[in-house]
Amino acid sequence: MSDTVKYLLEEDRMPKNWYNIAADLPEPLAPVMHPGTGQPIGPEDLAPLFPMALIMQEVSTEREIEIPEPVRDVYRQWRPSPLFRARRLEKALDTPARIYYKYEGVSPAGSHKPNTAIAQAFYNKEEGVRRLTTETGAGQWGSSIAFAGALFGLEVDVYMVKVSYQQKPYRRALMETYGARCVASPSTETNSGRTILEQDPDSTGSLGIAISEAVEIAATNDDTKYSLGSVLNHVLTHQTIIGQEAIMQLEMADDYPDILVGCAGGGSNFAGLAFPFLGEQFRGGKAVRAIAVEPTACPTLTKGQYAYDFGDTGHLTPLVKMHTLGSAFVPPGIHAGGLRYHGMAPLVSHLVELDAMEARAYDQTECFKAAVDFARCEGIVPAPESSHAVRGAIAEALACKEEGQSRSILFNLSGHGHFDMQAYTDYFAGNLEDVQYDQGKLDAALAELPEIAAE
Ligand SMILES: *Cc1c(COP(=O)(O)O)cnc(C)c1O
Repeated sequence: MSDTVKYLLEEDRMPKNWYNIAADLPEPLAPVMHPGTGQPIGPEDLAPLFPMALIMQEVSTEREIEIPEPVRDVYRQWRPSPLFRARRLEKALDTPARIYYKYEGVSPAGSHKPNTAIAQAFYNKEEGVRRLTTETGAGQWGSSIAFAGALFGLEVDVYMVKVSYQQKPYRRALMETYGARCVASPSTETNSGRTILEQDPDSTGSLGIAISEAVEIAATNDDTKYSLGSVLNHVLTHQTIIGQEAIMQLEMADDYPDILVGCAGGGSNFAGLAFPFLGEQFRGGKAVRAIAVEPTACPTLTKGQYAYDFGDTGHLTPLVKMHTLGSAFVPPGIHAGGLRYHGMAPLVSHLVELDAMEARAYDQTECFKAAVDFARCEGIVPAPESSHAVRGAIAEALACKEEGQSRSILFNLSGHGHFDMQAYTDYFAGNLEDVQYDQGKLDAALAELPEIAAE
């Protein structure tokens, strides 16, 4: 057998349904609240922002949600994505652990994000929407929804965090190649953006601000809806195709993971990998340890408060119960732009509270070191976000060595880093710092949590 083993499914074994973990939760999720009334919101409250099909998925408790054929048809271009055994990494670490990784960088946009972007574009088109608005940090989500919009004939306006807009011109060029319009946020196009610019004309922006801008445009235009790349239940559900494929691929390898690792920004790629396995566990299957890895600079799960909060800085979104650093918190500028969000998926937060999974945080330089070690064994250059999962998996493999245990570790390599090579250049030049967040600013942001948090 060759040294590198790749487990590929036949195209026709691609899952026909997404998996909805709401069907198997030991306790149901806390309701989403209306900021004005303090009461749970209904589907109609979300209708200005999302097509009804996605709203129904958001509140669904059906275990399986059928993947529409036109969506499967696009998925076939790169799905099923490969599952690799990292034999050379195992050797380099001299670990008895079996390390597997699911590689989502094979999508046209280079990450897991098209798994939901394609689905969201499809449902919006079906319901007669003309234009989508969204935000993007590093540009991964923006390029994914731009790609999806091009395929389904939707206009796409992307509000891109200004610091990334300036630092990542290639991601912007990719969005424009797919036909999207890319606007530096905060912009003068919205009330939310103008308010921020009045207070701070030099604001470099944040995901929370960009979300406010995109939501405002969708809420005030009938032909426009808003699209979010993570956090929401339906987004996590779309990503479960990752874990479902991995279950079948590991069957081919005659293995089952003891440990799952994913990086967590809003929680979608972690959930996509872990939820199908956690679902099996909730239904009486084998127990797995699922570990979400985040940056110490933006430690939502490990240092945040579990409370109701807004998803955006301008307070236009409903209130969701999640781990949060406060909607006013602006994380320091680390290279893993996709992990710089103040909140977390309510489903992931809920599972942490239930002790059904774990969370930990690493500094960015140790993550880049892990990513470089990985690249030199396996050839794939991880995205800065994904490097956190690599770091977590290597830590578990080294623990196996220490304890003389041969465990099976599966991690999600959520994307490649080909558009992030400046970050690697900075790392090699010794210019990357382990920036810490400002405790005073975090305390101030947490002090501003909405009233309902006290309940
Ligand atoms: C956006 C992004 C993430 C973080 O988002 P999640 O919703 O937590 O998955 C992780 N990895 C890559 C490559 C990304 O583009």
